Amino acid sequence: MMFIEVAVNIPSDKTFTYAIPESLKTSVVPGKRVLIPFGKKRITGYVLGETSVTHRDDVKEIVDILDSEPLFHNEDLKFYRWLSRYYHYPLGKTLHEILPGGIHLKSNTWVSLVTETSEGMDYRPSSSQQRILDVLNRSCGILPLSILRKQLGKKDLGRDISALQKMGMIALEERMAKPGVTLKKEKIIALSHEPPEDARMTKKQRALIEFLRLHGPSPISTLRRTFTNIPSTIIALEQRRMVTVSEKEVYRGHGQRAIIKEGDRQIILNEDQDSALKEITRGLDGNTFFPCLLHGVTGSGKTEVYLSAIRECLARGGGAICLVPEIALTPQLMTRFNARFPNEEIAILHSGITKSSRYDQWRRIRSGETRVVIGARSAIFAPVKNLKLIIVDEEHDTSYKQEERMRYNARDVAIMKAQLHRATVILGSATPAIHTYYNTIKGKYSYLTLPRRTEDRPLPVVEIVDMKQEKKVEDRESPLIFSRMLREAIRDTIKKGQQVLLFLNRRGFHTFMVCQRCGYVFTCLNCAVSLTYHAGRGIIKCHYCDFSIKTPSECPSCHGDRIRSYGVGTERLEEEVRRLFPDVRVARMDSDTTSKKGAYERIIDALRRREIDVLVGTQMITKGHDFPDITLVGVISADTSLNIPDFRASERTFQLLTQVAGRGGRGKAPGRVIIQTFNPDHYALIKAKSHDYLGFYGNEINLRRGMAYPPFSRIVNLHVSSSSKSRGMEGIEKTKLIIREESYDAIREGKIEIVGPAEAPIHKLKGKYRWQLLIKGKDSRILHRLVRNILEKAHTTGLDIKADIDPLNFM
Ligand SMILES: [Zn+2]
Ligand SMILES: [Zn+2]
Repeated sequence: MMFIEVAVNIPSDKTFTYAIPESLKTSVVPGKRVLIPFGKKRITGYVLGETSVTHRDDVKEIVDILDSEPLFHNEDLKFYRWLSRYYHYPLGKTLHEILPGGIHLKSNTWVSLVTETSEGMDYRPSSSQQRILDVLNRSCGILPLSILRKQLGKKDLGRDISALQKMGMIALEERMAKPGVTLKKEKIIALSHEPPEDARMTKKQRALIEFLRLHGPSPISTLRRTFTNIPSTIIALEQRRMVTVSEKEVYRGHGQRAIIKEGDRQIILNEDQDSALKEITRGLDGNTFFPCLLHGVTGSGKTEVYLSAIRECLARGGGAICLVPEIALTPQLMTRFNARFPNEEIAILHSGITKSSRYDQWRRIRSGETRVVIGARSAIFAPVKNLKLIIVDEEHDTSYKQEERMRYNARDVAIMKAQLHRATVILGSATPAIHTYYNTIKGKYSYLTLPRRTEDRPLPVVEIVDMKQEKKVEDRESPLIFSRMLREAIRDTIKKGQQVLLFLNRRGFHTFMVCQRCGYVFTCLNCAVSLTYHAGRGIIKCHYCDFSIKTPSECPSCHGDRIRSYGVGTERLEEEVRRLFPDVRVARMDSDTTSKKGAYERIIDALRRREIDVLVGTQMITKGHDFPDITLVGVISADTSLNIPDFRASERTFQLLTQVAGRGGRGKAPGRVIIQTFNPDHYALIKAKSHDYLGFYGNEINLRRGMAYPPFSRIVNLHVSSSSKSRGMEGIEKTKLIIREESYDAIREGKIEIVGPAEAPIHKLKGKYRWQLLIKGKDSRILHRLVRNILEKAHTTGLDIKADIDPLNFM
């Protein structure tokens, strides 16, 4: 007897042993999915490997094999195991998260009425039991249990169901659910033997035979394009054994087409690009782990370096993954990839493509037929064969962080994956994450730089407007949105027939208090993050350590009394633009206006065709895309990102401002950028104004060192939620106690610090109360051990706890 170790999608790290029946023995290999009996159900499991004889005698046999070929290699499994351990996410769930979904099989429980009721039954069903019978009666006597639950609006039917079952009035059975993804197969028609010269055939049959003789075995879809009434012709020929019909699997691609042909223009790298590429090529040749930061100002031609690096990688027989921060950018990038690699099959993986296509592409990648993968964060999991190169474009971008289920950061995962595969990894950015740049200084990553814009276009001129100087002259009720300078600049730009971009931070919903006289912003003395205003309770509060005070009516700095909360949304901004400039064509781009398919592209196209004068938008407008006629960029409030309750607020602001500013002046006309703020002296703004990353880094790294924030420590953010406020508070106190007990020595020696618990910035979401608890420490091994223990004990506190390891942001 042979046994296998199987992981299943359950919230536990436990794996299970199953036996393989003789008939399936040869086709069970690691990386395939199997259908297994699990409790009363049948579910999908992942084969991890063979195991030696088990000492248990109740081992069950697997039911079936669900994949014709394995979905991952053995070295991929090593990587998956690392992911599972590092992010404290069970292996079975990790595999479920990573592998293309849809062909998972699971049985469902069905409930049916038993029609032949035995005579002389003397007990009657209760009213709730009777309702179950009524619903079944109305539905032809049979329903899946899940639907029955829904129809009755009740979660727990267990007791009634088993009572009815005992009475013999209903029966339960397990039925397999239909998988969401199937293999697509097509009929292939082939000539079996030459018909004799004198064989009697219709004209059409003869033509078809002639076609097959010329083209060889052909799919039925091809024949349909040439002949009419194909099925009956084929049946006739098949009966006479002149043709054979077989089935072959068809590959479904990503269905994205290149939009614009780039043409065969000769690509000549400039000096900086060329020396960066030389370093990367050395890395590729070295066959060792080679991480590097490609630090290039906006518009310096990083994509050209990526493309050349991929070409070198392919020339060396390797495969490559290229991650981009925004799904909407993939068609644009695809065009350039197709133009450069016309003979390469390129896969696109992100959440927007169909399950079937994802499944097909995945298998092509694993088999090595597809060597280049582009995609959003989840593309990092693609099982690329002989992986030699990973590119993370805009590596500092927060979209690489997944905020649910497995809370990973694709940039960090890319580093780990490259290490396992001894590959080269390029982290590209104009504004590298502080942590990434710190690693180049420590010598962990190589540093490659593109300090100039292509064609030596100047960087745009950045001006900062002090909003404290602006008086609300017009309407006292409406919020102060535009400074005089920005208003005039918009008017001038439109008069010249050029375009305007107005940017507002999406995360602007954290209301903060600012003194409109001196610009003072309330920050926590313990944590150096902004205090958040809670209008309902009239308090300001720290979301790290829970410090809170009543909102003061007087400014502690200038003793003025104009302390106001600040916040305006994109919709309001659009309204204001329409009110001030009634003849101007305005469009808005944010998650609301782009949720429909194709909406994003429509706005971009309208902008390109110059049907929009002013585009109002969030982060979405800051990425990619060259618009030569955008000459003015306005940042409505730098303060909204400066005051998010996160120790990375300054870093995020500097990155955003640089990114937004980089949108201006891409064409011949020079760009102008206007930033409005109540804090014109903040170093993040001053350094963004002078395009001075290193200056910003110098300031920021000193602050981080002083507060012992990353990179000088590691942080774990425990997100705790509960549907009951009091039980949640009790549970989180108990959790803190557990941490204190478990790491008594580490805390005493200063190796671990607990901050909080505090209410989460969004205190209540989907009916659940939320808190956060920060654990700071230098030794990642101690931290990980601690988190593991907390998560294991989570069930004793009855809490829903999720751990964010080195979180990018704290939403
Ligand atoms: Zn003040
Ligand atoms: Zn604090």
